[in-house]
Amino acid sequence: MKLAARVNEVSPSLTLVITAKAKAMKAKGIDVCSFSAGEPDFPTPQHICEAAQRAIDDGKTRYGAVTGELKLREAIAKRLQTKNKLSYSPDNIIVTNGGKHSLYGLIQALIEAGDEVIIPAPYWVSYPEMVKLAGGTPILIETSAANNYRITTEQLREAITDKTKLLVLNSPSNPTGTVYPPAEIRAIADIVVEQDILVVSDEIYENILYDDAEHLSIGAVNPEIFARTITSNGFAKSYSMTGWRVGYAAGPLEIIQAMAKIQGHSTSNICSFAQYGAIAALENSQDCVQEMLNAFAERREFIYQAINGIPALSCPKPDGAFYVFVDISKTGLKSLEFCNSLLDSYQVATIPGIAFGADNCIRISYATSLDTIKQGIERLSNFVNSLT
Ligand code: GLU
Repeated sequence: MKLAARVNEVSPSLTLVITAKAKAMKAKGIDVCSFSAGEPDFPTPQHICEAAQRAIDDGKTRYGAVTGELKLREAIAKRLQTKNKLSYSPDNIIVTNGGKHSLYGLIQALIEAGDEVIIPAPYWVSYPEMVKLAGGTPILIETSAANNYRITTEQLREAITDKTKLLVLNSPSNPTGTVYPPAEIRAIADIVVEQDILVVSDEIYENILYDDAEHLSIGAVNPEIFARTITSNGFAKSYSMTGWRVGYAAGPLEIIQAMAKIQGHSTSNICSFAQYGAIAALENSQDCVQEMLNAFAERREFIYQAINGIPALSCPKPDGAFYVFVDISKTGLKSLEFCNSLLDSYQVATIPGIAFGADNCIRISYATSLDTIKQGIERLSNFVNSLT
């Protein structure tokens, strides 16, 4: 059978492949410590579940507006205004099948052959693949632990050509956990405006910040950048709603309408009653977000110390999200070999850095219990020791 050529252009999502492998091992009764998917281990807060259950009872089980329930888009608009200082009307918002699908829809709506999309590396696994699926060209800007995994304005200027259409910004970052300080966000905004390109700001980890880290939505910097920004977000990480698949994009009307056109021919609306859970998430107390953050903060402290205590491994302290990005260069192994051996021999699931464009690193998600982390780190340490 001859598949469409674009399928051969992309790799499967390694985050999902390894997570599935770890789950399959667990199902066979193997004691796996899984640090694979970035998926909070907490149950979805009760009030959110109850709101979705009520929505089912109330008959919210039918087709809805392609762009999402008006009540949800109003609640998102209110949140973006009060928290992010972004003034969007509900018409400027589209509810999507998770944050991932908002990015996919956006790239489908904007990018075609000949367009370049600038992506800071290490990057989240799906950004370049989405660009390739749209026929565009990902242009990577390399960063390293030495510069806190953040691009500089010089690098950005150098990467922009007359084919550049879009910059992908992800702060707090998956996989590195870096957070761009407000001054750096403002400097990037100036270049985007000056060069008249667009920026998509993936803010899915905006609530997971540690110590003094501050999140500034790039669209809030000034009206010029606002007009060139698409803000992407979702409920999965902040509210432990990964399986619900509710995300959104907010941006210029023309772009949101283009995304709606594509969504109308692909998913139609997002699961109706799941959207009522999302409304409850926004409209009720945010204590649940803080409680999860407190747990992540404790785990971050432990894992950062523990990793750096293992000779041959090192990682910077993340400012946000729930990943440590660990340098494995001193072990002499490439990331796939490292992760495969670690999983097969010591039953610890991690994601090879090659999925994020950094073959000298692995990603460890600490969105899992402290017990699992302690056990997994001990196994990881034994594995690394066995290599030397
Ligand atoms: N975004 C999460 C991760 O990076 C979930 C898996 C995925 O969608 O890639 O692990």
